[in-house]
Amino acid sequence: MTSERFDAVIVGAGFAGIGAAIQFKRMGIDDFVILDREDDLGGTWYVNHYPGLAVDVPTTTYSYFFEPNPNWSRLFATGDEIKQYCDDVADKYDVRRHIRFGVTVEGARWDDDAKLWRVGLADGTTLSARYLVTATGFLSQPRMPEIPGITEFAGRVIHTTAWDDSYDPGGERIAVIGTGATAVQLIPELAKTAGELTVYQRTPIWVAPKLDVRISERTKRVFARMPWTQRIIRAITDNIYETMINVGVVHYRVPFFRRLNISAMDLCKINQFIQVRDKDLRRRLTPDYDIGCKRPTFSNSYFRTFTKPHVHLQSDGIDHVTADGIVNTDGTKTVIDTLVLATGFDLWEANFPAIEVIGRDGRNLGKWWRENRFQAYQGVSMPSFPNYLSLASPYAFLGLNFFNTMEYQMRLMDRLFGELRHRGATTFEVTEQANTAYLDRMTELLGDSLWTLGNCASSRSYYFNPHGEPSLLRPMSTQDAITEASTFPLSDYSFV
Ligand code: NAP
Repeated sequence: MTSERFDAVIVGAGFAGIGAAIQFKRMGIDDFVILDREDDLGGTWYVNHYPGLAVDVPTTTYSYFFEPNPNWSRLFATGDEIKQYCDDVADKYDVRRHIRFGVTVEGARWDDDAKLWRVGLADGTTLSARYLVTATGFLSQPRMPEIPGITEFAGRVIHTTAWDDSYDPGGERIAVIGTGATAVQLIPELAKTAGELTVYQRTPIWVAPKLDVRISERTKRVFARMPWTQRIIRAITDNIYETMINVGVVHYRVPFFRRLNISAMDLCKINQFIQVRDKDLRRRLTPDYDIGCKRPTFSNSYFRTFTKPHVHLQSDGIDHVTADGIVNTDGTKTVIDTLVLATGFDLWEANFPAIEVIGRDGRNLGKWWRENRFQAYQGVSMPSFPNYLSLASPYAFLGLNFFNTMEYQMRLMDRLFGELRHRGATTFEVTEQANTAYLDRMTELLGDSLWTLGNCASSRSYYFNPHGEPSLLRPMSTQDAITEASTFPLSDYSFV
């Protein structure tokens, strides 16, 4: 079998794939290709372009640690600015020429005789590479809700990941299903011109005030001339977010920290009280699970939107969909023109892993995760998968800021590939023992967290896998994860 051969194949041209590419270049590995099923780079920031799209982490923090961007126009920048940042970084580090767009990867199989990954593409061709990195993101497979009759609906259906930019909501009767972070951004925008807007809420979301500010031209100039000034702001925003997740969620066992978690819920309730006077509406919009069980978000306009006469909160549930509307469980019917699905992503079933990966001795990653437990040493490596890094793995994501996850993963690559080169080895593979010890440690740490001790039963959170374990997030601080990435025992991997 002949196939194009590379040192490395990276699957995914979002921020993770671009970060991995930059790291490869730093390590002197330039013979790699990045494959992406879309026709442009940016991952989630290319795919998503619904009205109101913005980041809900301050942009001082939401950027590569090595590439501060002095051009952000706001503390919480809009989606197109983040896409632009992604383009700029890819160009600056000369990553774009490595990317092949419109390429769907079907799967990858380790060829133990040749010590190569064979990467199968949808067009039937195969690429070969010594190293495989999947950078497919956590939220990349849209979830279509299974609601009786939904395929019978005769009007327009839009999932938020496939927004039709030519769509004019003006005067339309619109239903939005879902009240996650996406819906919180979208609903106030649609309400501006929609004729009638009905929001179908199954589980309410905690929404804190968004302390957004415009960044003046003068400040941008200061950031550009003296990058350390922006780093100071980053240190502040980083620490606020770190404190939120570590104190209020990861170390929830500490009684004082539990109080802080309650204070965060109080803050969201104040945000709601300021915007909504109707007590019953407030009650229906208030979650009955602890903040942090699922991803909370920020908005100064979401709650207020429900006080407009043409906006309706439907929290009784959907019975079925008909050709012209939605029949609610209370028997009433809402006639609509357009159905907007803000129903999020299928994380555990479709995304772990996003492609079929077959390792040594025929071990199928998806099957192995499901038949055992979801697990990944340092959030990137699994035994029997040599020369493979899976950047979107269980216990990989540090919580609120994706770039912190990238930071430790790039440092881990540095240490791992540095050792590989130093030993003149061909393959690396995490040992079963190190992987099990890491899983045990994550399980133990999670025992102190909100996800184990808090009231999360009704949250329907994607932090929990189908077995009920909160195995998405890595329960430690960014600093600890970075330190581990630079100091983990090299004996945790076998180098051959
Ligand atoms: P999500 O948080 O998973 O929310 C999906 C919503 O759809 C939930 O309210 C869910 O209800 C509802 N839903 C799904 N299936 C349903 C069904 N069959 N019937 C009724 N309701 C249904 O998805 P998302 O809002 O797209 O956000 C996903 C993540 O993207 C966020 O958590 C965040 O990490 C990220 N995000 C980030 C930003 C940013 O600014 N950085 C912006 C947007 C999103 P249940 O909760 O009851 O399942």
